[in-house]
Amino acid sequence: MQDTGAFKLRGAANKIISLFETDKPDGLITVSSGNHGRAVAYVAKQLGTTATVCITSLVPENKIAGLRMFGANIVIHGDDQNEAEQRAIELATQQGLAFIPPFDDPHVIAGQGTIGLEMLEAQPELETLLIPLSGGGLISGIAIAAKALKPSIRIIGVSTQEGAAMHASLKAGHIVPMEEQVSVADALPGPIQESNAYTFRICQSLVDETIQVSETQIEAAMAYLMRYEKLIVEGAAAVGVAALLGKLSKRDLGPTATVLTGDNINIEKALDTFSRVENNGKY
Ligand SMILES: *Cc1c(COP(=O)(O)O)cnc(C)c1O
Repeated sequence: MQDTGAFKLRGAANKIISLFETDKPDGLITVSSGNHGRAVAYVAKQLGTTATVCITSLVPENKIAGLRMFGANIVIHGDDQNEAEQRAIELATQQGLAFIPPFDDPHVIAGQGTIGLEMLEAQPELETLLIPLSGGGLISGIAIAAKALKPSIRIIGVSTQEGAAMHASLKAGHIVPMEEQVSVADALPGPIQESNAYTFRICQSLVDETIQVSETQIEAAMAYLMRYEKLIVEGAAAVGVAALLGKLSKRDLGPTATVLTGDNINIEKALDTFSRVENNGKY
């Protein structure tokens, strides 16, 4: 329910404001075509500076339109994420732009962590938090904040079945390379860089457990949220509810909360998911 339709505004704003307090950059640049890109563009506009988003030639037109709506300049480069990121880093040096990382950054992590503070402020009795997990900026921030306030709290990361880079890396004990994957939770799959400096280690020490939910379970959770809570969320936001309806339904987790992380889904797609799940008659 934030202006860009996702929590990423918190981390991006905290990072960008910290840069403006020290050495004001000539503009901002990032590589995310999704919620982080929109957040960077939104904050840039508020602060009267520019945002450039480097994307691959594979990013669909509706996502580009979403970025333009928030005033981003778009640079299309290459057809994989690494090439786009290389280009962004080059442009940052050439043009004096500040690169805003999507998750592996202390200010980004701290910004996302404000959600953890708010959750425990609202419900101090919480014992378990189910947090959608991709690169781990969100869960790192929430885990640091929540465990500082309440060391006994249990933090469970929830990922998709495919492309769950952090889940696989935590299991392996080192960063595992991951191909891009398609998921109904399109904000979740994606690689973690070999150069990861923060989120992997924070997850290793503060996340109690990570689990995966299937595509069918995510769709069922999206439909469940529409039917029973009258909420439309994107796939990534529904994974905590998917876990509660499925895998975790029989576990005693005590008072439990999850974060509905975003609502950037097109309405036709949401309604289509709803009718398919309803027709199957199964949550
Ligand atoms: C980015 C994002 C996540 C995951 O956040 P990470 O910090 O990458 O783990 C979850 N849900 C939505 C909607 C997102 O945009």
